Amino acid sequence: PPDVEQLGRATWTFLHTTAAYYPERPTPTQRANMLSLLRSLPLLYPCSHCASHLGTNMQEHPPDVSGRVALSRWLCERHNDVNVRLGKERFDCAIEKTDERWKDGPSD
Ligand code: FAD
Repeated sequence: PPDVEQLGRATWTFLHTTAAYYPERPTPTQRANMLSLLRSLPLLYPCSHCASHLGTNMQEHPPDVSGRVALSRWLCERHNDVNVRLGKERFDCAIEKTDERWKDGPSD
């Protein structure tokens, strides 16, 4: 079975980075593709208990694919839900913080 921690770090890196570089004003096709990507996770993510938690969580909190700011926040909140469940610290989901971590790096 996969290493759930290494898989998690790699997956969060991919998802947060993809959200950070998602367009401010996505086309309908871009929105549909992002929705497909996210909706696939509960079906395909190769940690079955993780996938099942995510599926339940996404029913309560449907993805917001309207633009990169909303998407970055939505994903940060879903990651925080996992963090809380695992007893890890919450991350500040302000766009400045998610961009600093996943797009721009520290400012000075
Ligand atoms: P990670 O949680 O992997 O975070 C990586 C980096 O992201 C951090 O170092 C930090 O810089 C940044 N970060 C942290 N929080 C946020 C945030 N909210 N927004 C933006 N950036 C942030 N593991 C389980 O044991 N059980 C599960 O049920 C489970 N479900 C998962 C579901 C999904 C969809 C994914 C992708 C992973 C899941 N994992 C689960 C794995 C878990 O979330 C962690 O990836 C793993 O425990 C390694 O944690 P870490 O402390 O190295 O940092």
